[in-house]
Amino acid sequence: MPSSRRLLSVAVAVAASAGVIGCGQASGRSMAATTSDAASQRLTTLTSLDQRVARVAQRLSEDNVDLCPAVRQSAGWALHSASQYSNELRPLVQSRFGLEGDLPGVLSAPPDSAAAEAGLREGDLILSVNGEALNPGPARTRPAFEGLAANIAMIDRALAGGATRLGIRRNNEPLDLTVQPHRACGYEVQLNPSDELNARADGRRLFISTALAGFTRSDDELALILGHELAHHVLRHRTWSDVGGAGREANDAAAVNGAGDKETQADRVGLFLTARAGYDTRIAPAFWRRFGAANWRVRYPQLRHASAEARARALEQVQVEIDAKRARGGPLLP
Ligand SMILES: [Zn+2]
Repeated sequence: MPSSRRLLSVAVAVAASAGVIGCGQASGRSMAATTSDAASQRLTTLTSLDQRVARVAQRLSEDNVDLCPAVRQSAGWALHSASQYSNELRPLVQSRFGLEGDLPGVLSAPPDSAAAEAGLREGDLILSVNGEALNPGPARTRPAFEGLAANIAMIDRALAGGATRLGIRRNNEPLDLTVQPHRACGYEVQLNPSDELNARADGRRLFISTALAGFTRSDDELALILGHELAHHVLRHRTWSDVGGAGREANDAAAVNGAGDKETQADRVGLFLTARAGYDTRIAPAFWRRFGAANWRVRYPQLRHASAEARARALEQVQVEIDAKRARGGPLLP
């Protein structure tokens, strides 16, 4: 899902962790070189996580569009720009991704996405939409994502109207491609830099921490987490307050009294959403047991959720339900 803020987060994470990696590599090399190598390595890791999240989010969003309260026309890509990165990293991302100013570059065009169908590839730089030039923005001395966000908003307005012609630059050559957008759930997915193993939904977006995305060992496991968060949207557990500018529980009383039920519901519906997107849901109970072993916050019962073991057992029962519905044929509806 295109999200300037998510991608900004990537840049922040790189800046914050530069120098952490590289024990044993420093001898005979300058600190600057080590820091640069560490930043480069960290960027590689984060780019790969970002691409995984974009890939899984695209499938979940398109294959469950019939169940989502909010729908949009989507290219299914992830975009980023040079301007969102720190001064230290900007030269690195410019050379690695061919980015320029606020212009959106394709960080990921997942297989089966409208972007991939149109022929877009990682590394393409988007210069114009339906013949109208995007704004590369001013020379910037600080990371900023408003310019990228404005360019993405312009592209999204065009996609909302259907087939969209993009002027791009690939390997220094201009190229015109037309994207025929797909209907998808209308939520952005953001990868947030954090050492905490968490994910959440706020009514408009889904968030997953870099630690939790990195903890998942496969796209099936990652889909399980994102499917649970998407289920909160499908179940209308979260609404977005435009007045407050923040997500909140749809019903504050229920947040206290019925929160446990909401998590159980989101686990159940989330497993259906994950299955509907073609992921292997049989890994779910084992994942929850492994997750519980690694994280005491989910190992034991809390105000908002049951223990990891109880959730694993409940998911075994949901799997029985999914298998039975599949055996009967017809649509797989929670
Ligand atoms: Zn939840």
